[in-house]
Amino acid sequence: MMVKDSPKILVVEDEAAIREMLNFALSRAGFEVAEAADARQAQDAITQQVPDLLLLDWMLPGTSGVDLAHKLRQASRTRELPIIMLTARGEEEHKIKGLEVGADDYVTKPFSTQELIARIRAVLRRTIHSQNDGLMQAGDITLDTSGHRVKVKDQPLELGPTEFRLLHFFMSHIDRVFSRSQLLDHVWGDNVYIEERTVDVHIRRLRRALEPFGADQYVQTVRGAGYRFSP
Ligand code: CA
Repeated sequence: MMVKDSPKILVVEDEAAIREMLNFALSRAGFEVAEAADARQAQDAITQQVPDLLLLDWMLPGTSGVDLAHKLRQASRTRELPIIMLTARGEEEHKIKGLEVGADDYVTKPFSTQELIARIRAVLRRTIHSQNDGLMQAGDITLDTSGHRVKVKDQPLELGPTEFRLLHFFMSHIDRVFSRSQLLDHVWGDNVYIEERTVDVHIRRLRRALEPFGADQYVQTVRGAGYRFSP
């Protein structure tokens, strides 16, 4: 039997009690856990080894969680590192801002560890699934699923992990119309906690990335129905 390494999770949280609780719960769930108390410690840990997933608290002393997420998205080594943000308040602007800087999901405190673990597994599942096939082509876009690379007119395109999965899904289902909830099911997985407007945030980011190549028109809004990808 093949033994697969446990997924490595880096927990970034300044409150020691919460950090330790997370370490305990995640270790028990079979993850390998590392801890960081602030953004600087997190950067150091990531320099040593990029984890499989980052559990990142919004409120940190010094560099905030959202600024760290933003920074990690800019660096090629961590561009596709899955990030789940922890936020103390369920404020809408936090959620949207977190998703806009490239977090894959967010969890509002207080949360149940069961729910958190389910979300971690969902994010990891999505990441692993999108690594499976080969080269796909649609219009001017070429998507290499194994190398996680996208090119438009032979120019490399930088996409966040969710935009990559979204584009991958669209390119696998050309000309079909999908509602927001269908896109949530297919691209985000069976995750009942994510709101439909999350889809719009990521569609906007995908279009923005494709815009310099004129390929943003591939992603079409179908009024009253959802979205369609049509090169
Ligand atoms: Ca905190």
